[in-house]
This record gives sequence, C-alpha cells and structure tokens, in this order.
Amino acid sequence: MIDTHSHIYLSEFDEDRAEVVERAKRVGLKKILLPNVDGETIEAMHQLEGQYKGFCHAMMGLHPTSVDHNYRAALDEVKKHLDTRPYIAVGEIGIDLYWDKTFRAEQMEAFEQQIIWAKELNLPIVIHCREAFAEVFEVVEKQMDDKLCGVFHSFTGNIEEARRILGYNNFMIGINGVVTFKNTHLREVVKEVPLNKLVLETDAPYLAPVPKRGRRNEPAYIEKVAETIALVHGKDIEDVKKQTTINAKQLFAV
Ligand SMILES: [Zn+2]
Repeated sequence: MIDTHSHIYLSEFDEDRAEVVERAKRVGLKKILLPNVDGETIEAMHQLEGQYKGFCHAMMGLHPTSVDHNYRAALDEVKKHLDTRPYIAVGEIGIDLYWDKTFRAEQMEAFEQQIIWAKELNLPIVIHCREAFAEVFEVVEKQMDDKLCGVFHSFTGNIEEARRILGYNNFMIGINGVVTFKNTHLREVVKEVPLNKLVLETDAPYLAPVPKRGRRNEPAYIEKVAETIALVHGKDIEDVKKQTTINAKQLFAV
C-alpha cells in the first residue's frame, strides 16, 4: 500500500516518529507521501524525506487555510522550492470555506496559480476541498486540459460531486478513516466509485479510523480504510490494496 496523504513530519510525531514508520512498514506500506502545509512545515518535511529516502516523498504547495494577507509572499516561497528541486506533486492546495470565508477570493487565486505551476511542471495536484466544491470545480474546470491530473484528497462529498470528478479523465478520489465512521454517507458514495479511481490515505495525525477515532492517526491504520472499501465493494482486501497501489503509483509516478 501507499499512504498518499500523511503529515507525519508534524510535531505530533516528534516523540515516536521512527516507531510510527516502523509500524507503517510492518502493515505493508511501501511509501508515505507528504503534502506540505505552508512555510512553517517545509523544513521538517524535507528533513523527514531525507531520512527515509525512497519511502517518504515530499510535495510542495500552500494549504488553503494558510492563505491570508501574506499569500503572495507565501506563494513566492512555494514557487522558489518548486524551481529548486523535484517534487512528486503540487499539494496540498485547494479551497477551505469551513474554517473561514474571509480570504475566499485569495484562496481561489492561490489555488489557480498553483494549478498553473503544476501543469508547467507536469505534476499532479493534491486538492483539499472543504465546504467549497462549487469554487474548487470552477477553478479546476477553468484550468482543465489533457495534462491536468490529481486527487481530491479526503473526499467526503456526495454522489453528484463524486460523479463530476469521475467525469474528469485524470483524477482520483482519496479515501481515509472517514469512510469507517459510524454515521457517514461516504460508504454509499465509495460503492459507486470504481476501484481504479480510488487511492488510500490517512491524513495522519487527523481522522483516525474506527476504532481509533478521536485519537492520533498514523499510517499503519490505513489497513482499516482498505478493509472498509473492500467490504463496500464486496472485494478481497488484497485486491483493494493492489489496485489502489497501482493507482497511486501511476498518479504520482513513484
Ligand atoms: Zn492534509
């Protein structure tokens, strides 16, 4: 398996990061992909990647909740890094109107700019979308072309939103612990998404699956996500692991 979205470079893992990586390897994870958040997280992310070469792979991008008055300077920093060295993706980027709508226009502009850079660099985009499907679809569709590819990470939308994404040629849907939650509609939606369009993720340290819900999440818990997808698709868990890994390898070219 590949954990396509994990923030294990954050301080939540400072005490036991080596053991977290060990447990991840033990459940069969072959790679952990690291989405950036903002200027505060770049150094720790790069450091972790260097420590686990070939296992941890960094992305570069500005997270929508980090878009504020200083977003142009923050974008300059992202661009500087993108021009300095290779990354596996531009992420995480997108729009989040759940926490704060103040910078809606700036979030849309930052998102679009980073999509343009991803296309120039032939990189996939990793999209964070929270209460902002209309805005995200608007920007993505404006920039859509044969080249644009990516994943809607931590997807929790409805069936119409899933179908709209499936209508894009080169986009995957990222599923994490939310799919295991008791009262989620997500299992019904995931049922309608073909296995060749799904990738696994944890979004660690957030969104731990049942029965760890509410506690710190870690990559090893990804098994529960694969298990739940297998259940709703009526497939063997090994088939789910295999296909989602193929999908992730193809999308991120790892
Ligand atoms: Zn994230």
